Amino acid sequence: MKILIAKTAGFCMGVRRAVEMVLDAPGKHETPIFTYGPLIHNPQVLNLLEEKGISVINDIPSKAEGGTVLIRAHGVPPQAKDRLRAAGFTVIDATCPRVIKVQTIIGKHAGQGYEVIIIGDRDHPEVIGLLGYAGEKGHVAGNMNDLDALPAFEKAIIVAQTTQNILFFESVKERVIRKFPHYKIFDTICDSTGKRQAEVKCLADSVDALIVVGGRNSGNTQRLVEIAEQTGKPAYHVETETELDLKSLASAQCVGITAGASTPNWIIKRICRTLEMLPFNKHRGWLFSIQRTLLLTNIYVSLGAGCLCYTCSKLLGIPNYYSYVFISMLYVQSMHIFNNLTGTEADHYNDPDRALFYNTHKVFLAVLGFIAGAAGLIKAYTMGLFPFMILLVMSAMGLSYNLRLIPERFSSNFRRIRDIPGAKTLLITMAWGIVTAIFPPLSVWGRFDPSIVLVFIWSAGMVFVRTALFDILDMQGDQIVGKDTIPILMGEKRTMRFLKSILAGIIVTLFLSGAFHLISSLAFAIAICPLFLYIVLLVYERGYMLPGIQLEFLVETHFVLTGVITLVSCQ
Ligand code: SF4
Repeated sequence: MKILIAKTAGFCMGVRRAVEMVLDAPGKHETPIFTYGPLIHNPQVLNLLEEKGISVINDIPSKAEGGTVLIRAHGVPPQAKDRLRAAGFTVIDATCPRVIKVQTIIGKHAGQGYEVIIIGDRDHPEVIGLLGYAGEKGHVAGNMNDLDALPAFEKAIIVAQTTQNILFFESVKERVIRKFPHYKIFDTICDSTGKRQAEVKCLADSVDALIVVGGRNSGNTQRLVEIAEQTGKPAYHVETETELDLKSLASAQCVGITAGASTPNWIIKRICRTLEMLPFNKHRGWLFSIQRTLLLTNIYVSLGAGCLCYTCSKLLGIPNYYSYVFISMLYVQSMHIFNNLTGTEADHYNDPDRALFYNTHKVFLAVLGFIAGAAGLIKAYTMGLFPFMILLVMSAMGLSYNLRLIPERFSSNFRRIRDIPGAKTLLITMAWGIVTAIFPPLSVWGRFDPSIVLVFIWSAGMVFVRTALFDILDMQGDQIVGKDTIPILMGEKRTMRFLKSILAGIIVTLFLSGAFHLISSLAFAIAICPLFLYIVLLVYERGYMLPGIQLEFLVETHFVLTGVITLVSCQ
């Protein structure tokens, strides 16, 4: 089965902004934190917020005992905002800028005496908020009958709820232009809504069935379902992967997935993973199972570390590299297993398959991790006290990543290394860089050489790009559990640009280092690897490949490619 995901699926700009604002609020604003009305129409996200102590208030009390209230992306009537402040709340306004634009149009024209006709759902929070800006001049039309029932006004404006069905609004416009040419029409449907709806129609041409993911109370999801059904292809509306009708989907060769503006990426990812794992998914077959097993057990990533160490040793001209390659593999294998075992909280959202695997096989994996770690240390000990001490310190640092090192009374925010913003990516980068590029030459030569820095830059740079790309794929789950990864700090687009610049820098460094004989001429050949990773970034960015086992496998493959190129070049 082939799976196509709509590029527009998932959080729109306004919802993402509101979710980020509320997740940021506990550290920045007076607690307790509330949202005025459910933040978004997605029960899974609301449950998560509740677990994080962010609750919903539906009514404004006359007097509150402090705390902060966030106004959601839909906006509220201006009077509601005033009442929240008067009650004693600090108010964070997360109204989407595009909704604010409609509110401004309404407020301005109502002030000039225009009647305001809002084409939308009367009970939708956005429409209730918009009506507040129209005052006595507001009218709502949810269908043509409502519109026809309105009297002819001397002057009026027409606006749409931002998530309105485009086709319906087009027919409203036609009728209004015909009957009341003096009315002013503002096309206020959000372009995110327009693109999302248009994409469902395009997607339907290439697939056998469509899955629309989103809350049942979400208006924009319901409109996507309507459009999907109108295409004539079987359409399924699900909130989570547990609702997938796997029997009906079994006959589909290609399935298209889209999602409402309030659906988190990790729910879409879970749907994909469930479809990927289907036994009838012959398209994937045994190759997919092997890839999945190699990734889940970290055997492939450990092989990658060995390949990286092998290439670093060759670049530096270290003759007896076997022990270092072996130690790198054992170290990476052990650290990845232990950190997955102690940090499955984010995986619960980002990668439920991995979380389940680690939960089911925790004893076996713990033993495997322990054996790998101990074997690496024993091997290092046999090579001397210095290599042993380096590996011991690195192992201790790696193991402490998820552990609570500082008691809560000293710090509530930074108790573990992983609580430090960006720590995960930097720590993994340093650990891999040291074990693959610094550990072998320091152990053999017992002294520092500038060529070590060049090889470290290459090795650590490649690991940094790989890890930060995985962080991009896991952004929403990480955000929910409060992990500040680099993409969360920098934003996805800037991180992508940054990663591409690093890869370009690595390619230039390799060529210059090779040209000036600072390291082995192997540098020219392995420049293919950052180029390969650059292409993988582009493939993901342009939507040619979806987050999932195959993308992950491809990313890890660049390390193995490095080893193969080195092996061939050094024959
Ligand atoms: S659909 Fe558009 S207007 Fe509505 S919240 Fe999202 S970005 Fe804003």
